[in-house]
Amino acid sequence: MNHNYSIAIHGGAGTITRGSMTAALEKAYTDALTISIEKGISILQKGGEACEAAAAAVVEMENQPLFNAGKGAVFTHDMTHELDAAIMDGKTLNAGAVAGVKRIKNPILLANEIMNQSSHILMFGEGAELFAQSIGMEWVENEYFSTDFRKKQLLQIIDSEKTALDHSVHSNAKKGTVGCVARDKYGNLAAATSTGGMTNKRFGRAGDTALIGAGTYANNEVCAISATGWGEFFIKGVIAYDIAALMMYKELSLDAAASWVIKEKLGKLPPIDGEHGDGGIIGVDKWGNLSLIFNSEGMYRASAKEGEEIVFGIYA
Ligand code: ASP
Repeated sequence: MNHNYSIAIHGGAGTITRGSMTAALEKAYTDALTISIEKGISILQKGGEACEAAAAAVVEMENQPLFNAGKGAVFTHDMTHELDAAIMDGKTLNAGAVAGVKRIKNPILLANEIMNQSSHILMFGEGAELFAQSIGMEWVENEYFSTDFRKKQLLQIIDSEKTALDHSVHSNAKKGTVGCVARDKYGNLAAATSTGGMTNKRFGRAGDTALIGAGTYANNEVCAISATGWGEFFIKGVIAYDIAALMMYKELSLDAAASWVIKEKLGKLPPIDGEHGDGGIIGVDKWGNLSLIFNSEGMYRASAKEGEEIVFGIYA
């Protein structure tokens, strides 16, 4: 048995270039990533399990308005916020997910409760919120999630039929969906992902984040994956599970499987409105190897292994 832990987080992928960033903004992102990954590390160091660490790291990013998850989530076409989240435990293959919730401050915690306290996996909308209420979880007004920056992003495309990755609406818009994968010292893997979805989405649209196998997947036998990017493509390609399947059936390494799926397959999936799929993943395998791979200009990310420094990245 290997006694080390590993953890990686992402804060979304998209059109993130050096030219469009300032030193102050870079620092703000790095600080926010630091808070999140340190939270996960502290749990793993104390012997906490992968699921607990992954959920806690994601909560930190949901509470941080820089990212498109929880506070700071993008706006729908109707100027509301509808949030998706999922968590999966690689030990039991149990999972919990929510889609289209409007009043739950930390959707990843609700996904976690669905995993732990119900016999269901995916709950949506009002039913999910009533379940949250029944177990005493905090409700917030939908406006709690609003920020001026996100409203501006919506107003730029509200008259079009387009949806946009929050970080790709225009050059200053580069913030994202959040996720964490972790391996604890017992060898358990977990993945957790949370998002506001895509700017200008129509009501009722759920993305890959909430779908086990598309945006979130974990299995102790192979790997844990959390994705970010244009969700429809991650659903079409069943991207997170595809990486796990290549590892399981073709015995590829995590790096080889993830590189093939993200760099070869994702961009070649049938286009939507003439555009191709983009985004990335973070993954951890059963030995604790980490992969952070994307086909977009950038992905906010950080990773750490027991006894090593945290490594940060933004650009390709
Ligand atoms: N994958 C998310 C979605 O399509 C968006 C993102 O990753 O930023 O809902």
